[in-house]
Amino acid sequence: MVLEPATPSPSAPPLYPRIVKPRGLVGANLADYEAVCHAFSWTAARALLDGLPGGRGLNIAHEAVDRHAAGARAGREALRWIGQDGSRRTLTYRDLRAATNRFANALRGLGVAEGSAVFVLAGRIPELVIAVLGALKARCVASPLFSAFGPEPIATRLTIGEGRVLVTTGSLYRRKIAPIRAHLPQLDHVILVPEPGQGESAVPGTLDWRRIVDPASPDFVIPPTDPEDRALLHFTSGTTGRPKGAIHVHDAVVTHHITGRYALDLHDEDIFWCTADPGWVTGTSYGIVAPLTNGVTSVFAEAEFDAAAWYGILQRERVSVWYTAPTAIRMMMKLGAEAVRGYDLGHLRFLASVGEPLNPEAVLWGQEVFGRPFHDNWWQTETGGIMIANLAAMDVKPGSMGRPLPGIGAAIVQRAADGGVVPVEAPMVQGELALRAGWPSMMRGYLHEEERYRKCFVGGWYLTGDLAMRDADGYYWFVGRADDVIKSSGHLIGPFEVENALMEHPAVAEAGVIGKPDPVAGEIVKAFVALKPGFTASEALRRELLGHARKRLGAVVAPKEIEFRLVLPRTRSGKIMRRLLKARELGLPEGDLSTLESDAR
Ligand code: AMP
Repeated sequence: MVLEPATPSPSAPPLYPRIVKPRGLVGANLADYEAVCHAFSWTAARALLDGLPGGRGLNIAHEAVDRHAAGARAGREALRWIGQDGSRRTLTYRDLRAATNRFANALRGLGVAEGSAVFVLAGRIPELVIAVLGALKARCVASPLFSAFGPEPIATRLTIGEGRVLVTTGSLYRRKIAPIRAHLPQLDHVILVPEPGQGESAVPGTLDWRRIVDPASPDFVIPPTDPEDRALLHFTSGTTGRPKGAIHVHDAVVTHHITGRYALDLHDEDIFWCTADPGWVTGTSYGIVAPLTNGVTSVFAEAEFDAAAWYGILQRERVSVWYTAPTAIRMMMKLGAEAVRGYDLGHLRFLASVGEPLNPEAVLWGQEVFGRPFHDNWWQTETGGIMIANLAAMDVKPGSMGRPLPGIGAAIVQRAADGGVVPVEAPMVQGELALRAGWPSMMRGYLHEEERYRKCFVGGWYLTGDLAMRDADGYYWFVGRADDVIKSSGHLIGPFEVENALMEHPAVAEAGVIGKPDPVAGEIVKAFVALKPGFTASEALRRELLGHARKRLGAVVAPKEIEFRLVLPRTRSGKIMRRLLKARELGLPEGDLSTLESDAR
């Protein structure tokens, strides 16, 4: 790879050297972008998978596990788990087939009907993967939740998703589920995964994994599965209203598989590590499904970010393909290149990043420190899989998200007066990023929110809610969100959910929540709060509110900063003007204030 100065262009984003790849990079799965895009069809991509034996349909778990367990890869490590304390557990494809079959049989034994939602609330432990894949085998809908959520977001999601089964651990159950269990009447079964050192002490209202999963039969025949059957439920947030449950179907595996090959360049012998938690879509699509359908070994590490621990994993496990996130990369950059020296990371072949804007310096830092650039890619919960990417054999323009994957039609569109949208052909013009509807992992609905779902589609385009530009070479450049959602350390946070939790506190009259730019986390959650009569702003109350929000929402979602205001700016229709709060916070122009009703700085 060589670094070559970029060609200056008056409207181009800040210039960083383009990382030029040799033409037709030897060994890359997608060596000739134009040719593959031209010849691509989803039917041909689907043909790379097996389908259920006897033409009985398509099931993600069969493609991820059983087809390998029945063939030459049966003895290959599928999942390599590394525990927080350094302990390890390995499951071959054969082991994973037996384990997931046991879980599917356990669901049957409990009388869980096909189509029921099976939630998992756990850290990154093997049972999470087993439960997700086992639920898919039983034709249930799997929904992993982020274990750092507080009781409030968990209760909301279990309620919207009508969770009938929850797999969790004893400690998470006691802290987060027991207090809300009475509000979850539809939750029939809670299965507790044993924790290290925990004996067999029965927790009332729960079942012990060791008693119902371990003894179940390791043989299971996946029932016929229509590719359009619901498979995965992932929650995401909008500006207003409750979290949205994006529904994905079994056919999504076609996108997972082909993007694993093309965007992550997975090869047969790879050891792959996706650092994302399956509580967020990346950790499921690329921490579980894509590596397994591609038959590689997937590293599943329990510990949270710690640079030395991560470098240790990369070295010890001989990771060859690493998929991580900008916040983690920036945290590593802060510690400097020195921290990497001394580790032998010679096995690393391909580095990719997703979830939030990847600054050009971070791309180049990868090149400097690991000898490879980070390849930024773009997608979101609703798209189910990678849509736009810097590919292995493609020049990287640091700061750009890359180009659309084969089979993905992307455009920059602007709204027309008649309510439609018009694609913008000219380069470097800002508009909304849109995708031609119809790829296999496109969400099939927001649970119970038909109208909200319908509004995402205009004239055959799926509108992503992201603002972006496309340059003359077809590379896409992220500009920002079109709405008020917040991206903090890669986690998408709905301001409404945070405002609601704050409003539950007896002192709070109104709350407005924004994302405040942060050099490491991208954004942090900041809340503006107006108090009810009789309450006075004080440091003690500020701390109390921070603690209240943390307890209700969990550390990831709760605000890091709270500022008191006498009144919050509202529109005449009564909506808090987060845009204005943000502009003032950042010292930016306040924009159109014609709808402003109440105001006080
Ligand atoms: P989520 O649904 O939680 O995966 O969040 C999706 C959102 O994260 C997108 O709509 C973008 O706003 C943001 N995002 C994801 N990947 C990127 C990227 N490579 N660059 C900039 N923003 C990104």
